[in-house]
Amino acid sequence: MREESTVQSFDAVGIGVGPFNLSLAALAQSAGGLTTRFFDVKPRFQWHPGLMLPEADLQVSFLKDLVTLADPTSAYSYLNFLHHKGRIYSALIANGLNSSRMEFEQYYQWVAEQLPSIRWDQSVKSVTLGDGCFEVTCESGETARTTTLALGSGKEPHLPDFAVGLRGGQVLHSSDLMQVRPATSGRRVMVVGGGQSGAEVVNYLLSDDTSLPESLTWVSSRAGFLPMDDSPFTNEWFAPSYVDHFRSLSAERRAVVLGSQRLASDGVSESLLRKIYRRLYQLDIAGGPLRHRLVANHRVADLRREGEALVVDLHDADRNRQEHCTVDVVVFCTGYRSRFPDYLEPLRERITVRADGFEVHEDYSLEWDGPSDLRIYVQSFAENSHGIADPNLSLSAWRSARILNSILGREQFRVNGATSITSWALGQD
Ligand SMILES: Cc1cc2nc3c(=O)[nH]c(=O)nc-3n(C[C@H](O)[C@H](O)[C@H](O)COP(=O)(O)OP(=O)(O)OC[C@H]3O[C@@H](n4cnc5c(N)ncnc54)[C@H](O)[C@@H]3O)c2cc1C
Repeated sequence: MREESTVQSFDAVGIGVGPFNLSLAALAQSAGGLTTRFFDVKPRFQWHPGLMLPEADLQVSFLKDLVTLADPTSAYSYLNFLHHKGRIYSALIANGLNSSRMEFEQYYQWVAEQLPSIRWDQSVKSVTLGDGCFEVTCESGETARTTTLALGSGKEPHLPDFAVGLRGGQVLHSSDLMQVRPATSGRRVMVVGGGQSGAEVVNYLLSDDTSLPESLTWVSSRAGFLPMDDSPFTNEWFAPSYVDHFRSLSAERRAVVLGSQRLASDGVSESLLRKIYRRLYQLDIAGGPLRHRLVANHRVADLRREGEALVVDLHDADRNRQEHCTVDVVVFCTGYRSRFPDYLEPLRERITVRADGFEVHEDYSLEWDGPSDLRIYVQSFAENSHGIADPNLSLSAWRSARILNSILGREQFRVNGATSITSWALGQD
């Protein structure tokens, strides 16, 4: 007999529980007054498990946790997690204001376990328009009705088209690494991408003397292996006042500005670059068998299998010529892309989508032609309109607070008034 599907109504329903909707769920829980449900396809909270490398560190201060910058008194803070686990002193001595990614995932799990609003193992299949509400339907048949959606289903790993059909044990996206665990010891390995993921994968491949590759080729299309700009004035791009300034610019200007800011988010942490450089130097003077080549200004143009090996075509931008390289394993660290979520297809015709993505209002709600009391909020779908911090953890608590204020129709959380040293416009004397 077919099991009867359940239908319940909530004030708000979140789709996906990564850090961003987890922040929303935590702040909603402490604000009270809202019934919420959050669905995630995973069996429990996991943070990019394919790249959970042993030495990986958080790229921001732990104060940029789920709640603190919007509600410093929240019980769901990282400091409260450390306190609860009895390691607040040792963590501060070991890490200062930093955290390993592994410990931050444990913190996220600790918060998630306290939130009754989250339902795991629920893959959202579709969002349709019901009678005065959205109907969110999961593969399991579970359905939730709501007037307010929060989309937090994340981005998808991006592979160049020519690599998609070869994805497997020898051709990987960085997000596959710890699940596939390709055989790299004593083999010819290429890492594609000069950003943080590429550097973390290279560091991982070099970490164990007993299982080094035979050769390591690290390719970047940039002019070098460049550091992330973590300097004070650049960091103000990751503060609330900059979001409002960025939104006020024309779409053309925003695209130019975003392009010029890339290294503030896509560069490599300087400490990791130093570590890799020193490691390669030490391997060289030890006279070991590893051959390494770090090639900048090269773009991988094609890839094909020849017998057991992979032949990679590269374009050398300095000399404007094609080159070839034969390897056994290629790890593409080529980032993540947003795309229109499959579950939203039933509403596609009603949602405004421009060439550069959704049209997103100040409160992170989407422009659409449905009833104005039905709202769709987005987390990490608004880089083109709200700026470089959008896919980053820096503003996650603040953005969740702004969304909740909009849902509640009152200033539950203080989201305006934080100062910045940089003036985004000259103003009047
Ligand atoms: C390896 C890595 C490390 C990073 N480290 C940092 C850092 O240190 N600092 C920083 O500022 N930023 C960092 N980022 C960038 C960003 O903060 C993270 O990508 C962050 O996880 C984004 O959160 P999210 O909630 O948007 O999406 P995700 O973390 O991708 O979570 C999305 C969730 O949605 C679920 N989902 C998707 N579709 C469905 C569906 N149909 N039904 C149900 N559930 C669904 C998925 O299972 C997933 O759990 C990092 C990114 C990566 C890839």
